[in-house]
Parts: sequence; C-alpha cells; structure tokens
Amino acid sequence: MNEFVYLDDSQERWREIHANHKKEARQRALSLIAAGTRTETGCIVTGTNAIRKVRFNGQQFAAYRFIYCALNDATPSFHYVIRHRCHNRTCINPDHLEIGSREDNKHDDWAYLANGVNFDLL
Ligand SMILES: [Zn+2]
Repeated sequence: MNEFVYLDDSQERWREIHANHKKEARQRALSLIAAGTRTETGCIVTGTNAIRKVRFNGQQFAAYRFIYCALNDATPSFHYVIRHRCHNRTCINPDHLEIGSREDNKHDDWAYLANGVNFDLL
C-alpha cells in the first residue's frame, strides 16, 4: 500500500529551502540574530514592536519561524507553531524557540498566565 503524505504550503516551502537554499537560509538567520539587540532577560529583539518579517526565496516569513526552521532543519506543517519559551513574541533568540502544536501553545499561555513565570528559563 502506498502511503500518501500530504504536504501543506509551509512544509513544501521548507522542503525546497532545505533542499536548495540551506546555506543561504542559515546565513540569513544568523545575520538577523547578529543584528538584534540582547535584552537583560536574554531575549534577542529586533527593535520593532511588531513581529519582524523576513523575505527569503521570494516568500515572506515571520523572522522567528524562519530562524527556527533554518537553524534546526525543521519542516513544520501549518499545524505546528514555533513557540516562545520566553513569551516575548518579538524575540528571535533560537535558544528561546521551540516547536509545538497549536494546542501546546495555548497550554503554554495558560500556564504562563497562571504562574507568571516559565520555570524552564530560570
Ligand atoms: Zn526570548
């Protein structure tokens, strides 16, 4: 029996990047990080209140998602979000980013609201 694997747009564009533009994507991610400002909580921010966008390979990405995928060879589907362990959505520090389902992300926010602190980061 053939297994049918559905790739959504998000996966397809990362497959293509990892296959053909891996080096450039990595360099782009590292230069974005290098251009950021480190805060006293260890976050790296880009100096905009809005989420930083990146254009790469003719497409637009949220910078933190771009950085996570480029540095971790990740190919997440639309149903996976890149989570901020620091709860700072403008942060692009790869150490503060992890992948999770949309469900996980909600639970994270609830835990954060309930406890006010993310113990993983202490
Ligand atoms: Zn952070």
